[in-house]
Amino acid sequence: MTESDILNIFKKSGALLTGHFLLTSGRHSDRYFQCAKVLQYPEYTEMLCKMIADNFRNSNVDTVIAPAIGGLVVGQEVARQLNKRFIFAEREDKKLSLRRGFTLDENEKVLVCEDVVTTGGSVYEVIDIVKNNSAKVVGVGFIVDRSNGKVNFGYPQFSTLKMEVVSYLPDECPLCRKDIELVKPGSRKIK
Ligand code: ZN
Repeated sequence: MTESDILNIFKKSGALLTGHFLLTSGRHSDRYFQCAKVLQYPEYTEMLCKMIADNFRNSNVDTVIAPAIGGLVVGQEVARQLNKRFIFAEREDKKLSLRRGFTLDENEKVLVCEDVVTTGGSVYEVIDIVKNNSAKVVGVGFIVDRSNGKVNFGYPQFSTLKMEVVSYLPDECPLCRKDIELVKPGSRKIK
């Protein structure tokens, strides 16, 4: 799939909206991306995760791990396509950890998956979990890189798309100047 094919399915599924949005940071943007919207559709999930699975097909992956909740669908689908085990880390007292009896063996080769990487915080936490279990990270695969090139996990990493985040302080927002209605994503007002 080309970059424009991917952008197309993001738009078709409503994952990528254009307009005038109030981000949680308080900044304004002309684009809003919600990855869960594209992952609603198994067909799209399969296509995107195939790119990740293909990229790591020769990395001798034993197990795929992902942080809950965002990474669950991606990790599960990549593991299914590689026919490997899938486990996840979840937050307990704000810290990601393995629960439900999930374990990693010493030297087990682990692929970390996630939906969107912005600062990479959750992925870094999962990498620490893998290391603390004496297992080995063989790579990090995710759907969208929104770090503007700033996040490098130090392992082979792959994203299906790099999507630059352009945002403005409210005082400097060109969309405000054009009197375009400001929308808070998640509200029903989005057109
Ligand atoms: Zn604005």
